[in-house]
Amino acid sequence: MRYLILSDIHANLEALEATLAAAGPYDQALVLGDLVGYGADPNAVIDRVRALPVAAMVRGNHDKVAAGLDGIDGFNQIARDAVQWTTAALTRDNHAWLSALPKGPVVLDATIEICHGTPFDEDMYVFDDLDALRALRSAARPLCLYGHTHVPAVFQLTPPEAATGVSATIGLTGPPGRSARFEVHVEAECQYLVNCGAIGQPRDADPRAGYGMVDTDAGGVTMLRVEYDVRAAQRKILAAGLPEMLARRLAIGR
Ligand code: ZN
Repeated sequence: MRYLILSDIHANLEALEATLAAAGPYDQALVLGDLVGYGADPNAVIDRVRALPVAAMVRGNHDKVAAGLDGIDGFNQIARDAVQWTTAALTRDNHAWLSALPKGPVVLDATIEICHGTPFDEDMYVFDDLDALRALRSAARPLCLYGHTHVPAVFQLTPPEAATGVSATIGLTGPPGRSARFEVHVEAECQYLVNCGAIGQPRDADPRAGYGMVDTDAGGVTMLRVEYDVRAAQRKILAAGLPEMLARRLAIGR
């Protein structure tokens, strides 16, 4: 089974289309939340995702706020402006669909689970080893895929720590830097926390859209990057009257 990993699309239709075109054959998609917010195409992105063969999906913090399920208190001014614009732009049908997205984590099978932030808190960020350890301790499956930070990363928990639950060591074997492909081989007895990056708003100084592919037969995760028409996405953001900074940051991947 080949799963296409889509996270943090953030209403960036150009980045999503480039990702889908570059991804090649896959069986089903796993969607890790934040379909909307920041970008100018919330409805087109939702329509596109709704048409995909999706095995599992969770909501992100921007989806929650845009759908009116959570307040804007945790957002900075730019995120607030963007989410308010998004809520007003959503069709009634897409608003209802967004508000019905499942809260993570969602367990897919015996090996894989997905979440937006962490398994223990959908809104928590995994930035360092300690965050990753907490997340891995709360994971119900050996391969936990997450998003939210917009930064690709791989955390591996190796035995005996994984088995005994004592003095665990996290080995950060990523992020993949500027290579277009980065392979993670899933070893038996190990636990993995993997972020394949953000499609619509990368923040690792690489402006290319970040996505992933999980091959359950080969036991591997591939983290990939693809160029897209950044200028088209920027033009739409500016034309929509969204904060200019949201257009600028796409070009630098920050
Ligand atoms: Zn996000």
